[in-house]
Formats: sequence, structure tokens, C-alpha cells
Amino acid sequence: MRHVMKKILIRITSALKDVVFPARCLVCESFFHLKHRNWNSYLTEIDSRDDRSLIYQKNFTFYELMTPFLCPTCLTGFLPVESPVCLKCGIMFKSRVGEDHVCGECLESPNRFAIARAPGIYDQAFKTTIHCLKYKGKIQLARPLGILLFAAFISFWNKKNTDLVLPVPLHIKRFRKRGFNQAFLLIKDWTCIAGALNIELPYMQIDRDVLVRSRQTEPQVGKGRKERMVNIKNAFSLNDPSKVVKKRILLVDDVYTSGATVNECAKVLLRGGASCVDVLTLARAI
Ligand SMILES: [Zn+2]
Ligand SMILES: [Zn+2]
Repeated sequence: MRHVMKKILIRITSALKDVVFPARCLVCESFFHLKHRNWNSYLTEIDSRDDRSLIYQKNFTFYELMTPFLCPTCLTGFLPVESPVCLKCGIMFKSRVGEDHVCGECLESPNRFAIARAPGIYDQAFKTTIHCLKYKGKIQLARPLGILLFAAFISFWNKKNTDLVLPVPLHIKRFRKRGFNQAFLLIKDWTCIAGALNIELPYMQIDRDVLVRSRQTEPQVGKGRKERMVNIKNAFSLNDPSKVVKKRILLVDDVYTSGATVNECAKVLLRGGASCVDVLTLARAI
């Protein structure tokens, strides 16, 4: 009886809360009624041997994950990256027919990393959401976006083929100004997310310090590909090269624009002895 009363009371309180404090959409700033979601119960005990089907079952989509933060209309503004894409850099081709193949740019000037992938297009609701995390300090978005990124990792990669996950670093001055590195926030909970999903990550380590941005650069925003490459050249170094030797590395960032930044990072890591470098970002600019 007490149990039932407690349940009723919780329901009344949460309904009241919804009326008194409706949620505000991060994208369009309109008020909306929140579908309550408790992340810990969302990531409950599931037993599955196939990680990919597990991720599929759990429906780790932008729509599901961002429900507490975005109104129903903005939730539908996410554009997934879909085949056909470039087998190397992952760019989504304009033509929506045909098979995945290597794009002209990758054929002409191959990148240093092996492959780059992203779950969504850097546009509309996704772009605004990433801006909220990065520039408005809404770090409560790091968890759901981190889950979205982890789900992308499991669906694109064989987890046994990754030894080391590294965030693209910020220069210390920018880090101090912003207070966090958004790329690191996106991966810092991966071990805990994997644990909650019963996904083993036997070899994988996350390291936020091995790759450093040793030279301060101008922001890449508004620059073309060539300018970006010049701007970012020799901006990165390794503080302990022994940590990357023979490692299969996954480099993580929030957005892939021209690929100049991750390409420069990959160059440094390979020079340091890494056996291969792949790239995963939340979004892909088009
Ligand atoms: Zn909205
Ligand atoms: Zn390409």
C-alpha cells in the first residue's frame, strides 16, 4: 500500500513539475512538455552478445537521446549520414543512389588517417545542439551526445580493433577559457556506458593527455581547406610518444569540416609510431 502511495505521489509531483517548470527547447527556445527519462534506468541491464544489434534495439538515435532537451519539432531536424558515402573520409555523396566508393578528393590527396565516420550531418538541430555544448557550456548534453557517439563507434568499428581513443586537444589557453574540451567530454563516459550495456572493451583505453596542441592557432571557422591546412600545420605534438607506439588509434572530435585538423593529428600520431589512426566525429559538415 505504501509502495502504491509512493508511486502515486511521484506521479503527481512530476506532473506538477511539468506544469510549473516546462522544459525549454535548446534549439528554438520554445517550451514543451518533457517526457521524463532517467538515464540510469535507460541504460539498464541487458544481456546480448551482439553489440550492434543491442545498440539497434536500444534505439540510440538522436530523437531518443535528445528528447529531454529538444521540442518534438526540433527533434526531427536531425539528418543522419547515410550511404552512399566515401569509403575513406565518410563524406555523404549528393547522389542518393549507388554504392559507397572513394571520393575524388581522397583519390587526389589521400588523408593520413584511414577512415573517418560521423553519425549526423552538421546542420539544423544537430548543429545548434553541438553549439550549445561547445559555446554555451551546456555540458549536460555531453552524456546523451557521448552515447550517440559510442553507438556510432560500435556500429562502424570492430571494438577489438581499437587500442586507444584520443580527443582532439585544445590549446591550453583555449581550454582555460572554455573550461573543458568538448571532444573529451564526448568520450569520458564511454567505459561507464559500455559497462551499463554489458559491452566489453578489453583493449580500449581513453587518454586525454598524450596528444597536445602545442601551438596556438587561429580558429578554423571561415577558412577554406588549404588555409585550414596551413593554419593547423605543426600545431600538435606528443607528450609521451611511447604511449602511441603500435597502437590502433581512434581520434575523436565534435565536427569534421575539411578534415585538416584530424589529418594533422594523424600525421603526428603515425610519426610517433601509431599503427593506424581512424577518426570519429559527432557531425560531418557538408
Ligand atoms: Zn525546438
Ligand atoms: Zn573521401
